Amino acid sequence: MKCESCKINDFEVEQLEDEQQKPYYLCKSCFDRLENKALRPLEFFNLTAIHGHSSHLHDDFYDYETGEATQPDIEVVESEKFPFPTLNKFRIVWTGL
Ligand SMILES: [Zn+2]
Repeated sequence: MKCESCKINDFEVEQLEDEQQKPYYLCKSCFDRLENKALRPLEFFNLTAIHGHSSHLHDDFYDYETGEATQPDIEVVESEKFPFPTLNKFRIVWTGL
C-alpha cells in the first residue's frame, strides 16, 4: 500500500489521530511533514480527500484555497513539484465527500 499523502512511497507509519478517525498511512517523510504542519499542497489535498478536515489538517494550518501550509514548523520543501490540483478537480472531489 502506498503512502496516502505523496502516493509515491510505500507507507511506513500508521498514525492514529484519535479513536474516531481512521489511521493515516504515511511514509516517514510525509509523517514528518504532517506532524510539522508542512505538507506540500498536493499532499494536503490527498489527505483531506481521505480524512476530511481533521485536527492535523485544520484550516489554521493550511490555506484551503491553495493548499499552502500557513504555519509550518519546518520548511516546506519542493512544494512546486507537488502543486495543488486545479479548482475544478478540487470541486469534484470535494462534492464527492
Ligand atoms: Zn508519503
